[in-house]
Amino acid sequence: MSTTLQISSSEPTRKGFLTNYPPFRYWRPEAIERFIEPRPLNLYIHVPYCIQRCAYCFYKVTTLGDNRKAEIDRYVSALCREIEHAARHFHLGEQPVKTIYFGGGTPTVLSKDNMSRIWEVIHQHFQLEEPEITVEAEPVTLIPSKADHLKALGVNRISMGIQSFADEVVKKTGRVDTEEQAFKAIELAKSTGAVVNVDLMSGLAGDTDELWAYSVERAIESGAHSLTVYKTEVYANAGYYSDIKHKSLTLPSDEDELRFTAHAIERFEKAGYLPVNFFTFTKGGGYMQQHATSSWQGRETYGFGVSAFGLLRGHALQNTSELPRYVALVEEGKLPLARGCRLTARDLMTRDVALGMKLIRFDRKEFQRRYGFDVLSLCGPTVEALAADGLVEVTPDALSLTRKGILWGDYVGHRLAAALETAEASAAPGAPVVSCTV
Ligand code: SF4
Repeated sequence: MSTTLQISSSEPTRKGFLTNYPPFRYWRPEAIERFIEPRPLNLYIHVPYCIQRCAYCFYKVTTLGDNRKAEIDRYVSALCREIEHAARHFHLGEQPVKTIYFGGGTPTVLSKDNMSRIWEVIHQHFQLEEPEITVEAEPVTLIPSKADHLKALGVNRISMGIQSFADEVVKKTGRVDTEEQAFKAIELAKSTGAVVNVDLMSGLAGDTDELWAYSVERAIESGAHSLTVYKTEVYANAGYYSDIKHKSLTLPSDEDELRFTAHAIERFEKAGYLPVNFFTFTKGGGYMQQHATSSWQGRETYGFGVSAFGLLRGHALQNTSELPRYVALVEEGKLPLARGCRLTARDLMTRDVALGMKLIRFDRKEFQRRYGFDVLSLCGPTVEALAADGLVEVTPDALSLTRKGILWGDYVGHRLAAALETAEASAAPGAPVVSCTV
C-alpha cells in the first residue's frame, strides 16, 4: 500500500500539524502480528582445516600436519567461546534457529569430541526449531564412525565436495581422493538418512568433454539427492595460479566450461534433476537447501569462526580472517568481528534482487510487498535488455531466468545490481513518497 501526504493547495499554509509519519490512517493490526513474530536465524560455523590444499582453492585454509591436534582443540574451544559470547551479546538465543551450516575448510576433519563440544554449546544457547543441519564433507574424511556420529548429532544434509569423478582430473588438483573413495563416501553419507549433495566443478585442469561427461554420469549414478556445479575461478592465492602464470598448466577455456555446464544441465534434467537455483539440481526439484536459499532471501545469518560472515540487523558482519588473531581475540573475551557494513535501504533492495535471482524465479509481488513498488520501475531498461538477449523472461508476478539465463545467472545478478545501485528515484514512474507495507 502506498501513500502520500495530501496537500490541497500549492500556497504555503500554516495548517496541518504533522503528528507523525506515515499518517495513522495507514497503521494496521496485521503489521503488529508480523512485527512480534520472532525473526528466524541461520547459524554458520566455520572450520578452517583441510587435509590438503586443493590447487583451485582460494579460501584461507590451514592444512593438517603433525601436531595440529592441540591447535585444533584450541580453535574449537575459541569457537565455543565465541558462540556463547555472541549469543549473549546479540540476544541471538531469542531467535528461532532454522538452519545450521558447518562449512570450511573441511568440517569432517574434526574429531567426534570436538564436533560434540560445538553441538553442546549450540544446544545450550539457541532455540533450535528442527533446523536443517548441513555438514560439508570430503570423501577421505568421511569414515563410518564419523558418519554414525553425524547421524547421532542430527545432521540431515551432507554436502560432498567431490569436484570430479575422473581420477586424472582430481590428481591435478593435488587431492588424494579417488573415484572409488568418492563413491564409498557418498554411499556412507546416504546410509545416515541425510539428504546428500554432490559438488562438481566445471573447468578444472585436465577436464575434457569426455572426462566431464564421465563425471556427470557418475554423479547421476551416485543417486545423490542434489547435484551442484560450481564454475572453476582462479584467484592469485590458488595453486593453479602460479602454474598458469608459468605456463605449465592451462585450464579449459570459458567456451569449454560453458559447454560442460550446458551438458550437465541437459543430462541432469533428463535424469530427473531439476534446477532449484542456477547451479544446483535436485531430484524432482525437491530437497531444496534452506540455508543458502533463505539467506539469499534476506534471512539473518550469524557466522562463527575465523573469517565467517553473516547478516544481522541490517549489517553485514565478518570475523577476522587471521587464525591466530581470531583465537587471541576470543581468548581475551572479545568478539572477533573485524569488519562490517550497514546496509542502506537501497543496499537491502539490491541484495534481494541480485541474490534472489540465484533462485531462478524472482517474486515481483513479494518485492512490491516489501518495498512498496515494482522492481521493474527501477531497472526496467536493464530487464528489457536482458530479455532481448534471451536471459530473462518477465511475467506480471515474476522475473525469471530462461534456460539460457541459468548458464549466465550471476551475470544477470550483476547487471540488475548495477542498475539498482545507480537508479534514480525519479526513474520510478509514480514512485511513492512513502510506502506502508504490512
Ligand atoms: S577441501 Fe575445499 S576448502 Fe579445503 S582446500 Fe580443498 S577446496 Fe579448499
